[in-house]
Amino acid sequence: MVSVWILGDQLLERHPALCAAAALAERANTTVLLIESEARLAQQPYHRRKLVLILSAMRHYAAMLGAAGYRVDLRRAPDFATGVRQHLAETGSHRMLTVAAAERGTRALQHALAQELPLELLPNTQFLCGQHDPLPDVPVTRRVVLETFYRAMRRHFGVLLDDGGNPLGGQWNYDAANRRPLPRTVVAPPAQQFVPDAITLATIDEVGQRAGIGDAAGFALPVTHADARQALDGFIAERLPRFGDYEDAMRADDGVLFHSVLSPALNIGLLEPLEVIRAAEHAYHAGSAPLNAVEGFVRQILGWREYMYWQYWRIGEQLVAANAWNAQRPLPAFFWDGTSDMHCLATVLRRVHQTGYAHHIERLMILSNLCLLAGITPAEVNAWFLASFVDAYDWVMVPNVFGMGLNADGGGVATKPYIASAAYIDRMSDYCGGCRFQPRARHGPAACPFTVLYWNFLLTHEAALRANPRLGPAVLGLRHLDDAERTAVRQTAAALLARWSNDPRP
Ligand code: FAD
Ligand code: SF4
Repeated sequence: MVSVWILGDQLLERHPALCAAAALAERANTTVLLIESEARLAQQPYHRRKLVLILSAMRHYAAMLGAAGYRVDLRRAPDFATGVRQHLAETGSHRMLTVAAAERGTRALQHALAQELPLELLPNTQFLCGQHDPLPDVPVTRRVVLETFYRAMRRHFGVLLDDGGNPLGGQWNYDAANRRPLPRTVVAPPAQQFVPDAITLATIDEVGQRAGIGDAAGFALPVTHADARQALDGFIAERLPRFGDYEDAMRADDGVLFHSVLSPALNIGLLEPLEVIRAAEHAYHAGSAPLNAVEGFVRQILGWREYMYWQYWRIGEQLVAANAWNAQRPLPAFFWDGTSDMHCLATVLRRVHQTGYAHHIERLMILSNLCLLAGITPAEVNAWFLASFVDAYDWVMVPNVFGMGLNADGGGVATKPYIASAAYIDRMSDYCGGCRFQPRARHGPAACPFTVLYWNFLLTHEAALRANPRLGPAVLGLRHLDDAERTAVRQTAAALLARWSNDPRP
């Protein structure tokens, strides 16, 4: 008897460990182990919809494998190690195959178990850079920007290239064509909602009894490969064509716009990155989506997603220890309870609390921008993101929060800190029109907190920012502030931050 241990975020249709086991035993003599680990489920006060997603997808996966002729051991255990030991003792399996976890903690556990049990780890090929490292010899001390990594990945996987191996359209990057504000008349087709079946309904019921964030009821994400493909097809047909133009736009009455909402399925293996990339590429060749949309979307997956995973394993341990801006304040309680008089923030926090989702620009330019400007401790920001989002895992959170969002590494992952005042939010959204704060005011009780904290950040870190070629021009704006205005900005910021720091977590 051979066993295959499959983790809940590795629900691949063609799972490498199942393929390897096929060479060793018949399906009837192969037992697939799926562990619902109590310790893992309780590691954070997770969003309940994330728990429903993972548990329901694992249960559907178990049913699929059973129907395909495998023996399946789907078990609840106090933790992974106990589950593996119980399984081996009960089945008498003499060999167990598994794929290396995407996250550090679980991978370390797998290695430890492999020292004492008949457990063999296969490489993680769920990520494309796990199949082919585009820059294998680069020392960890050297900074590698996204663009270098992305071009190497496009070349290797032959994505959006002409016959000569050059980028289609003559450019690698259409970022500049992907920053349009959204006119009121443009309405995005909604992302597809999947009606829960009996397995998902029972899971919603069960998870509803657990501690966590948000409401499990209302869950409507795909939990099977077929549903995930339907979500992909719907996105490619209906929203991809305008993804590029409005990638950076935000709107108060729509938290998705032209984004794909595919990260929950991608991050647990219901979709594979290359099939998503090829689907987008096909839309370009079929003439149904323009190049700026397709390249922009491909860059998110073949570029940013892969780059983040690559950086996590390369410099992740340095990232979690980094705090380049010496941010020491606690996370304000309103992140947990969602109460704020800031229209943009209250709207995004309410949506995250309800659904566990916000699109990239809201994560970056509302949520983490505010934390960076306010000097919130990176570890506390990381813990909040990890708990609150349906698509959150350590491998994606560490580089996105410490690197891209908070610039805690001083620029290893992103080339500049993503900071902005309300002027940016006002340009890219309709939030400010419905807000009690004044976006342009830099100080005083009516001044927008983003604007106050932005100028305060420039004043506090002026010397360091001047040294950054991409932020030097922003610091030049300080010359318009005389001493009296500088003092007023600092005083308004200090009062605001003191209020937020004294607001205890509920
Ligand atoms: P789309 O806009 O449709 O993009 C397509 C796909 O590209 C996404 O599904 C995702 O797989 C990938 N992608 C795009 N940008 C990134 C990125 N920076 N890192 C990794 N993948 C990316 N992504 C997560 O999957 N889980 C997280 O917990 C998460 N937390 C984030 C926290 C912060 C502070 C920031 C700045 C970004 C975070 N991201 C995270 C990245 C990105 O915001 C989400 O992947 C994206 O919003 C998911 O929504 P979507 O599927 O509609 O994305
Ligand atoms: Fe947000 Fe400031 Fe605009 Fe209000 S004025 S919506 S707080 S950016």
